[in-house]
Amino acid sequence: MITLQGKGVSTGIAIGPLAFFERSSFVVEKKSISDAAGEIQRFQAAKQTAAEQLDELATTMADKIGKENALLFEIHRMVLDDPDYLDPIVNMIETERVCAEYAVLECGKRLARDFAEMEDGYMRERAADMDDVSKRVIAILSGSQQGPSGGNGPVILASDDFSPSETAQFDRASVLALAAQRGAANSHTAIFARTMGIPAIIGLGASLAPGLAGKPAALDGETGVLYIEPDSETLTELEKKRERLREERQALEQFRGKPTLTKDGRRIKLFANIGSVTDVEAVLASDAEGIGLFRSEFLYLGREDYPSEDIQYESYRKVLEEMKGKQVIIRTLDIGADKQVDYFNLPTEENPALGMRAIRICLTRPQLFATQLRAIYRASAHGNAAIMFPMISDLEELCRAKRIAGQVREALSAENIPFNPETPIGIMIETPASALISDILAKESDFFSIGTNDLTQYTLAVDRQNESIREFCDTHHKAILRLIRMTAENAHKAGIWVGICGMLGADPELTKTFIEMGLDELSVEPSYILNLRRRIAEI
Ligand code: PEP
Ligand code: MG
Repeated sequence: MITLQGKGVSTGIAIGPLAFFERSSFVVEKKSISDAAGEIQRFQAAKQTAAEQLDELATTMADKIGKENALLFEIHRMVLDDPDYLDPIVNMIETERVCAEYAVLECGKRLARDFAEMEDGYMRERAADMDDVSKRVIAILSGSQQGPSGGNGPVILASDDFSPSETAQFDRASVLALAAQRGAANSHTAIFARTMGIPAIIGLGASLAPGLAGKPAALDGETGVLYIEPDSETLTELEKKRERLREERQALEQFRGKPTLTKDGRRIKLFANIGSVTDVEAVLASDAEGIGLFRSEFLYLGREDYPSEDIQYESYRKVLEEMKGKQVIIRTLDIGADKQVDYFNLPTEENPALGMRAIRICLTRPQLFATQLRAIYRASAHGNAAIMFPMISDLEELCRAKRIAGQVREALSAENIPFNPETPIGIMIETPASALISDILAKESDFFSIGTNDLTQYTLAVDRQNESIREFCDTHHKAILRLIRMTAENAHKAGIWVGICGMLGADPELTKTFIEMGLDELSVEPSYILNLRRRIAEI
């Protein structure tokens, strides 16, 4: 048995084979060929292999992830028989004398684009399927692979590091846990793993080598230990622990459906954080009273182009409808820093966390911002929405953002498009500047939500992505607590509510302090909800 020690960032026990996440960049070159018939044959053979892979996945995955989810593989399989998909590829190889990889990529892209522009929401979603099918065929043609290697079905997935967009796209049914050589506890990757309820360990170092792929493994997301070829004693211990965790979760069930109250009857709003539409399922299961932070930028990650107004509208609307009147606070785009997207063409920066990110991008690209705001306002007609701006550090920024929101409302009214004109507009307090002028900002805000992840990074000057300086990051530092207290006092003086949506909100050692400071709301990852409700009931 090999024991690797890292840092647990998402709790839970996972037992299963270890697989390595392989990335293929799919750099497809446009190569000329002389033997078109031979190239078409090569394409037909790759298509056949892809079809066999998909047939197998459709049957093996039905048991593991349910028939409905496994249907996806059948849809992909059908694409491979569809003349609308096949004919243009064969045609291109024949007439333009290009290699099969290039023809598949180009024709697949065109078809995906056609789907993406369709009226019907279901058909639009098929654009991603076209991309997936093409990637599979290209991977076979070029002999490369993308995705887990070393295990079939549910695996403990290992990598040097996982980007937030990769993590966002993992299928929860086939990824039992994540194990990374590097990473940071406060990164969006870790946040996302917790939101999805996937146990995760970071910082396992180079000993987590690809040569271990396929070996049986066990992972403890609490202690941060990854066991390779665990002995039977360790497995028994871990199974016991898994059972204990299950019992603890069971004990929390008595707090389900109850209001969140302190001992003396003060009501606290207990909300959840999400990053995608599918996270709503976890929110509903967690019994949260609303969504205090919808990290909308996840709609922009893992794509090749900006999501249109309609695509965004449908996502926001779906979340609002599924939350059935409970409040949903949609944070506007917070791209930049660790969340990079190629098509934004952001400049390469020495210090991206101090650079062009979040509201700064929105104010310098007002059209992009207006598109998102239109989508949110349109969705506001279908539920209880609120808008929240990230990274505000000055009153002028807030006023500029609100002016753009005002123009969007005017345009929607002129077009007779329904929306809720009273949609509250709040801001995140996540720079020391905003906390220090929170008395001024409160006059222009409907609420404050304190983003302690960034507030900590900017106040203590510790990069949240850099694990090597973790010892210098005292999350209970007096400077941070003073800024939180100051923000809470200024919010209440102005008659607005104030919450915390950063990780610190889930720290049970600080719950009492926050309640004494007068915080009205705590928004945490769904898995913390019932625990926190119990903690608040003790205070
Ligand atoms: C924060 O900074 O605390 C926050 C909630 O925003 P994010 O973690 O997405 O930067
Ligand atoms: Mg932040």
